[in-house]
Amino acid sequence: MAKILCVLYDDPADGFPPAYARDAIPVIDHYPNGQTAPTPSAVDFTPGHLLGSVSGALGLRPFLEAAGHTLVVTSDKDGADSAFDRELADADVVISQPFWPAYLTAERIARAPRLKLAVTAGIGSDHVDLDAAIAHGVTVAEVTYSNSISVAEHVVMMILSLVRNYLPAHRVVLDGGWNIADAVARAYDLEGMDVGTVAAGRIGLAVLRRLAPFDVRLHYTDRHRLPESVERELNLTFHESAAAMVPHCDVVTVNAPLHPETEGLFDDALLGSMRRGSYLINTARARIADRDAVVRALESGRLAGYAGDVWYPQPAPADHPWRTMPHQGMTPHISGSTLSAQARYAAGTREILESWLAGTPIRDEYLIVDGGRLAGAGAHSYSTGT
Ligand code: NDP
Repeated sequence: MAKILCVLYDDPADGFPPAYARDAIPVIDHYPNGQTAPTPSAVDFTPGHLLGSVSGALGLRPFLEAAGHTLVVTSDKDGADSAFDRELADADVVISQPFWPAYLTAERIARAPRLKLAVTAGIGSDHVDLDAAIAHGVTVAEVTYSNSISVAEHVVMMILSLVRNYLPAHRVVLDGGWNIADAVARAYDLEGMDVGTVAAGRIGLAVLRRLAPFDVRLHYTDRHRLPESVERELNLTFHESAAAMVPHCDVVTVNAPLHPETEGLFDDALLGSMRRGSYLINTARARIADRDAVVRALESGRLAGYAGDVWYPQPAPADHPWRTMPHQGMTPHISGSTLSAQARYAAGTREILESWLAGTPIRDEYLIVDGGRLAGAGAHSYSTGT
């Protein structure tokens, strides 16, 4: 019997379960590239309910406990005295979400001799030291595509909200005011702007598709070029690198994984090469941008706005400078954890566990590391090294 250690964010401050705003969510059975949505043998939860917090337990408890496995769920994840550290010693499987990541460092992996599987309930496994996972034979899997569209929608929302100065204008209403000039002095139309994405994978391409009807000029850079038919359909301009692309853009959105090639990419030099008054939206991973360089670029006016939902570390400390820097539209890490997304990645987590417990192959598209090497989706999109 296996011990499954699941690290999830805290329940709502108002208690669990919350009162739901809607009665149901649409059924999504496949993704834009034809990949089927998760196909576990069954689920023990109501789609649209809160599954990502501790009491929701990703809907896994009945299934795992009925089969005699031990499920430990905690939100206490950081520091040597954390429940996560204590329970890790004899855990076979660790599950966590990028929104509340259980950082599986090399030291922690070394102290978890039974650990065989690390599942990301969502997408983005950079909270796992992939080199250490490879060295210790730990399989890493994530629920590819489960929340890609959720994030793409968030990106579009943040682009419009920054360019049109939505949040400060809303603040005027909350404050009981009506000063139109204050609200519009930084407001523009997106129409006609140059918008570029760093990476055109599942999220990046979905953002491009969603923005095309806004009559913008679309740009992208990626390690692999999109099919010519897609470039033509969306009238895309390809650039060899982020450095080659960003000087041609008014809005840049980052949709690449965090790995050695992308860490620290948006530093003073790259930000300094952007058009004055550019907007940068990063819902990928915080460390793709240099934290203090972003603050400097906003203060100097090189950036007219920055938004995203990814921070380092997570949760972000109360004095994190991105909480108070000017012209920003940050949210906590929420874009990929809508109730709609949770239903998919909870089902996908169960699908991965069912395969692993039965000794049958995990879907290739879910694999990041397997058999001591990058595998599946990981072999395509990640690199190793520090
Ligand atoms: P995909 O794997 O579909 O796409 C990632 C793309 O990044 C691939 O096209 C890959 O290129 C490209 N890429 C990798 N390295 C580079 C590089 N050095 N320069 C340019 N492009 C590069 O993943 P998704 O689109 O589904 O997700 C992307 C990332 O978004 C995730 O890794 C995660 O970090 C983040 N994310 C954030 C969420 C949130 O809640 N905020 C939720 C989900 C994901 P190629 O494959 O051609 O090599």
